[in-house]
Amino acid sequence: MSDRPADLMAATETAGATEPTGGDERTRVLARNLAAVEERVAAACRAVGRARAEVTVLGVTKTWPADDVHRLRLLGVREVAENRDQEAARKAAEVETLAGEGATVLRWHFIGALQTNKARSVVGYAAVVHTVDRVKLVGALDRAAREQGRHLDCLLQVRVQEDPRPGGVAPEELAALAAAVAEAGNLRVRGLMAVAPLGEDPVPAFARVAAAHEQVRLSHPEARWLSLGMSGDLEAAVAHGATHLRIGTALLGSRPPLG
Ligand SMILES: *Cc1c(COP(=O)(O)O)cnc(C)c1O
Repeated sequence: MSDRPADLMAATETAGATEPTGGDERTRVLARNLAAVEERVAAACRAVGRARAEVTVLGVTKTWPADDVHRLRLLGVREVAENRDQEAARKAAEVETLAGEGATVLRWHFIGALQTNKARSVVGYAAVVHTVDRVKLVGALDRAAREQGRHLDCLLQVRVQEDPRPGGVAPEELAALAAAVAEAGNLRVRGLMAVAPLGEDPVPAFARVAAAHEQVRLSHPEARWLSLGMSGDLEAAVAHGATHLRIGTALLGSRPPLG
């Protein structure tokens, strides 16, 4: 590889001010995208009087190769998200073979629909699961975490309005699900996650999620995270209290159609 990590790191420090000087063409594209996303997030925070440090950008690397995750890592991205277990498990392992000694720790987030029989695999690489939406899955994740001697951060995926896509707990079942996670010995309830309804104004949905989040925090003050917002709606998400933005397209480009 022709990447020169020292140059890349130097380029990152001044991202937005100057063009990056190191690495290959793809790295330069990612650096520019990262700087553009950073501008949007900073502006969105300023617009509503939030501190930039309250918001974490997750690089959604699904469908993109391990090389891209490696490039993002060199550019300073610390948290990445994937939505399919098989792809994520393979990529997480491959990324570690690309990293040199002393590489920064990457935190993997799982953001896809999760079957109970995949819980063991996901716990093997993910620090956070955003898509906890049923008690049966809570049991499977807790068992897997215990077996592997780990603690797993969990977000409860809430379904805020009619949406033909599967996934997410109904708001009226949220309290019981939060209690189940809180009682599980190796899981921590860290907050809520939601996906805006496809092709609609995200604001009403985000407002409902924010209200549900407040409700959950009354019983679980530790559930401070709110995973809301993607490339197209990050500003609205920041305005509604998002602490984690899941950004794919704006960072990596349009995904190739799924095969
Ligand atoms: C793919 C995906 C994203 C990223 O969406 P972009 O519009 O590409 O930023 C965010 N959240 C979930 C759950 C996803 O599956």
